[in-house]
Formats: sequence, C-alpha cells, structure tokens
Amino acid sequence: METPNFSIEFFPPKTDEGAEKLRAVRQKLAELQPKYFSVTFGAGGTTQQGTLQTVLEIKAEGHQAAPHLSCVGGSRESLRAILQQFQDNGIRRVVALRGDLPSGYGAGGEFRYANELVEFIRKETGDWFHIEVAAYPEMHPQARSPQDDLQAFARKVQAGANAAITQYFYNADAYFDFVDNARKLGVDVPVVAGIMPITNYTQLMRFSDMCGAEIPRWVRNKLASFGDDSASIKAFGLDVVTSLCERLLAGGAPGLHFYSMNQAAATTAIWQRLVK
Ligand SMILES: Cc1cc2nc3c(=O)[nH]c(=O)nc-3n(C[C@H](O)[C@H](O)[C@H](O)COP(=O)(O)OP(=O)(O)OC[C@H]3O[C@@H](n4cnc5c(N)ncnc54)[C@H](O)[C@@H]3O)c2cc1C
Repeated sequence: METPNFSIEFFPPKTDEGAEKLRAVRQKLAELQPKYFSVTFGAGGTTQQGTLQTVLEIKAEGHQAAPHLSCVGGSRESLRAILQQFQDNGIRRVVALRGDLPSGYGAGGEFRYANELVEFIRKETGDWFHIEVAAYPEMHPQARSPQDDLQAFARKVQAGANAAITQYFYNADAYFDFVDNARKLGVDVPVVAGIMPITNYTQLMRFSDMCGAEIPRWVRNKLASFGDDSASIKAFGLDVVTSLCERLLAGGAPGLHFYSMNQAAATTAIWQRLVK
C-alpha cells in the first residue's frame, strides 16, 4: 500500500519527568516517519511556553514540527509576539484554532472565531505559514447546526487556511458526508482525518462527551463489557480504529492525524497494521 500522509499530535508535558517520557515516545514514533509532529496550545496561557519548547526540541531532533495556536483570550499584540517567535525559530507550519478558555477565565480576547485568527496570521505574515484549521464531521458541540458549522469551516479556508484536521470520530460516513458537503461549497483543501486510538474506556468517554465525538453504541457496549480488562480494550480498540483508518484511506482521505496522547504504543500498532 502507498504510504498515506500522516502526522502525530502531542500535548506539552507539564513536568520534567513528562518531558523525558515524551522524548522516548517521540523516538519510537519518529521511526514511523510521520510528515510532522504537532503540539497543542493551552488557551489562557496554561501551556504556551511548553508548546514552543516542545516544538523546538522536535525540530532540533531533525523532524518537522507544528505548534497549535489558539486565539481565545489573546490580543492582537500577544498573538503578534507569538507569531514573531515562531518565525524567528524557523517554524513554517501552524494549526490555527479558536481554543476553549479554561473555566474561570470568562470570555475576553480580541478574536471570537478561528477564521479571524487565520485572517490575522495571513495579514501579519503573508505566506510564511502553512495553516491547518479544525473541522468537525460530527459538528462542533457549540454550533447551531451542521450547516452553520460547515459555513464556519468554509470561512476559515476562505481566510487562508491550507488544510484541515478533523476532530476525532468513529463513524466514517460522517467524515465522507462532511467532505462531500465542503466540496459542494467549493472548499477544496485537504481534510485530514483526526484519529483517536482507543486504549482506555473511561478516558475516551470523558473526552468524547467534552468534544462531541460519538462513540457508536456497539463499540461503547463492547468496551464497557470488558470492565478493567485493559488488554481486551486495547485489542478491540486496535481492530476498530484500524478498520476505520482503512475505510477512510480507501474512500480518499488524504491523510491521518493521530491524537497520540503522548503514548507511542497504540499509534504504532495501528500504523504497522495499515502499512503492512
Ligand atoms: C485538530 C484539532 C486540534 C486542536 N488543538 C487544540 C489546541 O491546541 N488547543 C486548544 O485549546 N484547543 C484545541 N482544539 C480544540 C478547539 O480549540 C475547540 O474545538 C474549540 O472549541 C473550537 O476551535 P475552532 O478553531 O474549531 O473554532 P471555530 O472554527 O472558531 O469554531 C468554534 C465554534 O464557533 C462557531 N462559529 C464560527 N464562526 C462563527 C460565527 N461567525 N458566528 C457564529 N458561530 C460561529 C463554529 O460553528 C463552532 O461551533 C483542537 C481541535 C482540533 C479538531
């Protein structure tokens, strides 16, 4: 099989121990030769230095790295300074998001939506950055309707995004329907599928509730039936997610973006099955 485009996401570690662990994880994942690694960005200042630091470490190890950048809670001035820092460090790729403020931060900020951030990045830095934005095949949880959300996605592309990465999902039809509808609106950028490996039932349910990803009933029931038998959860999760990836790639998805959760094993196992 021809190797599809793929990328891997990390979150910035909070402790020295976490940073050390992530270095080892990265070393393993680098063997899979992803196109780039991306590093998330905490709205409200929580992990922003950690994002740049992790990206610079990845670059120093000889790999492409893309910081995420979220605009909620930020000002033009603060975002300009961050973009300048990225440019000064030779970073050419960024994942541009609105972000979610941690509770207690209020609303605030000079940007309301991610399309405004994309527009700002283009205005400030021209074509320096390859910009990726988020897309939601199962609809962003705060959107009024799937149509509104699709329009919001189209606005991000019109503002200058080069490509999109989706929120994770386990229903390939939602992805294909989203891409079809985007094409009908004239949006023709690559929409890379975001992939969340399944390794832990409780964590998966918690994340999915927050971000609006649907876990199909049969998958949920089966995972629940394994109780704390983590080996069975992982084995079943590997089967489910590998077949999802196979379907996506066979149906024309231009690539896969793995939410690694700073772990190497699950992403590696899925990848090895896909390329064998
Ligand atoms: C690939 C990926 C990576 C991510 N990385 C991070 C990260 O590093 N840090 C982080 O904090 N979060 C991250 N997130 C989560 C993301 O920040 C949240 O999902 C956030 O709630 C929305 O961000 P967005 O960029 O999609 O926002 P937007 O595209 O701005 O959309 C947000 C909501 O507003 C609606 N909307 C947009 N424009 C309008 C308008 N003009 N009027 C009314 N409604 C509108 C949309 O339909 C949607 O419901 C990531 C998500 C994905 C899919």
